[in-house]
Amino acid sequence: MNTEAITSIKGIGEKTARLFQKLGVQTVEDLLHYYPRAYDAFLPPQPVSELAPETVAAVEGVLTKTADVLPYGRMKVTTAALRDISGLLTLTWYNMPYLKSALRSGERFVFRGRVVKKKGRMAMEQPLMYTPEEYGGLVNSMQPVYGQTKGLGNKTIAKAVSEALKGRRTEREYLPEDIRRRCGLAEYNFALEHIHFPGDGAELLFARKRLVFDEFFMFLVAVRLLKDRREDVQSPCPIAVSGEVRAAQEKLPFSLTGAQKRVLGEVYADLSGGRVMNRLIQGDVGSGKTIIAVLALLAAAYNGYQGALMVPTEVLARQHFESMEDLFGRLGLTARPILLTGSMTAKEKRLAYERIRCHEADIVIGTHALIQEKVVYDNLALVITDEQHRFGVSQREMLGNKGRRPHVLVMSATPIPRTLAIILYGDLDISVIDELPADRRPVKNCVVGTDYRENAYRFIEREVRAGRQAYVICPMVEASELLEAENVLDYSKTLREKLPSSIQVAYLHGKMKAQEKNRLMEQFAAGEIQVLVSTTVIEVGINVPNATVMMIENAERFGLAQLHQLRGRVGRGKEQSYCIMVDGSGQADTRERLAILNRSNDGFFIASEDLKLRGPGDIFGVRQSGELNFKLADIFTDAEILKCASREVKRLLDADPLLEEEENRELKNRLDVYLARRYEKLNL
Ligand code: ADP
Ligand code: MG
Repeated sequence: MNTEAITSIKGIGEKTARLFQKLGVQTVEDLLHYYPRAYDAFLPPQPVSELAPETVAAVEGVLTKTADVLPYGRMKVTTAALRDISGLLTLTWYNMPYLKSALRSGERFVFRGRVVKKKGRMAMEQPLMYTPEEYGGLVNSMQPVYGQTKGLGNKTIAKAVSEALKGRRTEREYLPEDIRRRCGLAEYNFALEHIHFPGDGAELLFARKRLVFDEFFMFLVAVRLLKDRREDVQSPCPIAVSGEVRAAQEKLPFSLTGAQKRVLGEVYADLSGGRVMNRLIQGDVGSGKTIIAVLALLAAAYNGYQGALMVPTEVLARQHFESMEDLFGRLGLTARPILLTGSMTAKEKRLAYERIRCHEADIVIGTHALIQEKVVYDNLALVITDEQHRFGVSQREMLGNKGRRPHVLVMSATPIPRTLAIILYGDLDISVIDELPADRRPVKNCVVGTDYRENAYRFIEREVRAGRQAYVICPMVEASELLEAENVLDYSKTLREKLPSSIQVAYLHGKMKAQEKNRLMEQFAAGEIQVLVSTTVIEVGINVPNATVMMIENAERFGLAQLHQLRGRVGRGKEQSYCIMVDGSGQADTRERLAILNRSNDGFFIASEDLKLRGPGDIFGVRQSGELNFKLADIFTDAEILKCASREVKRLLDADPLLEEEENRELKNRLDVYLARRYEKLNL
């Protein structure tokens, strides 16, 4: 493994290294695993008559005249015309007058670039030119396209990767031979090279399969080791469900759904059953997972224990804390919740730690700050993570180590089919809330073009007049040269102009200070702000039942699962809610994809339909399972590889549980590095 800094690579100085750092690349190893985001396929030249606008294509033909260079404002525009057997095509370049000498009448070239429609005619802008021989050498190859950052373009990244690959020593294969044979996997070094520079599509798939397998394999080994350590552990802290908890359950402002009651029964049985609970609750957005957590935490508190609720964002932590305080107050419950978040001052934190240590607080609610070493519990018996997809196996384990083997409950809205969930959460029992509260009306959806915006604003205005609130989601925080997409800052300005001044519009994004975000969220929850323009920071868990409109700009930029999460922020109360997805691409296949959301409000259905539409061949589609922290692997499209890895892990560990055999030595080393890294990421 090469942990040298990337400055050791030819051509990379301090300045470039700093740009790479923005992409999370510091070492040569990081760079080798900075996989392409997509690939540019060099397809054979197309006839001019078959070119489609807004695509990248290649054409081959003869120049009909020598190029002209004309001034256009302060720009110099070079134009040429090409003819093939089917038609004529205009070629234009900006500020590249030196091309003129090469572009002579009668010469034959291949041009590759973006096709645009100009004044009703096809043209190609800024194409690259090749001799037919040159292009012949490239045809059908796939060039990597990397995630880029300002000042660090694709060419530089590809060059750096290529140098890194050239300069490295090949690594020893660590997967036992028979696993590779059974699963049809490429050799490791081959895979690493060809994921960056595949000769063709088949080679790419072969390389990718190996790396995907490795991701699953390592992950599943970690899960399995965790499970083995936990299997059948007697609980030192059984939690009986006391009368107070049963009474509280009866006095809730709503009656629980059948599914909630069933799952609660499973949780209660675990808590009081004498073994340590390790349970996952899966339930679609809005299915009412929080109340299950609250009742379980109450049960722990009334048994004289402490419980912790861990959430991915500070905003969500605060919201859970406040609604808990509110509920306990109304029901006259004496359990004492406390909030613990990263943005609290040092003094506030010290005070909170102290109160937790001497058990003046029963229920601790917070972000990952909770798991940091300073928090010492008096008597921790239950740990719950909400929206768990932001937390990995190792976080679960860290928290588990906090008390004397506390019960663990994990809650997730990620729609994973049961067969896959059993594999991925192999260390957990699974409960499913498969029913929404009865008073819910399904969210009404529409997918519209940008020309619909004015209608949408008027609609939002009407809803606000009727006492309700709206979210507007933009993909970006501020304007960028690299990406054309709506941004929160400009959009909120525009919206203030479009809406009457009596409507309070505010914006929220991840780069803001935590205190500021909290304040805004509180104002929104209190109804003082009516329209909240935000990035996806509000995607997870937020609950403001009075909000009835979710308008999503550049909906084409989001994955379906993510859109479903966003939409889940509305439709959480009795009022009819609406989701307006604005498609900024205007492309037919995008519309088709978004239409899936239009047809259904069911997370599982959406995930499976999305899969069908993308097909297993579309390996670079919007990744749904980014939550599970895989770089390449997608639990949906790669379900077969996942199952294969799962079988192999079982086979391996059944035969050699501690990986002590000689033939597994490389694998053991590799695994140790993998596990060590994951702990490092936890900042401990
Ligand atoms: P999620 O499963 O997405 O975390 P929440 O637990 O936040 O959902 O619940 C969404 C909303 O539904 C909350 O306002 C909650 O109080 C309410 N709720 C939960 N259970 C019920 C129920 N059985 N009947 C009516 N409303 C409910
Ligand atoms: Mg929730």
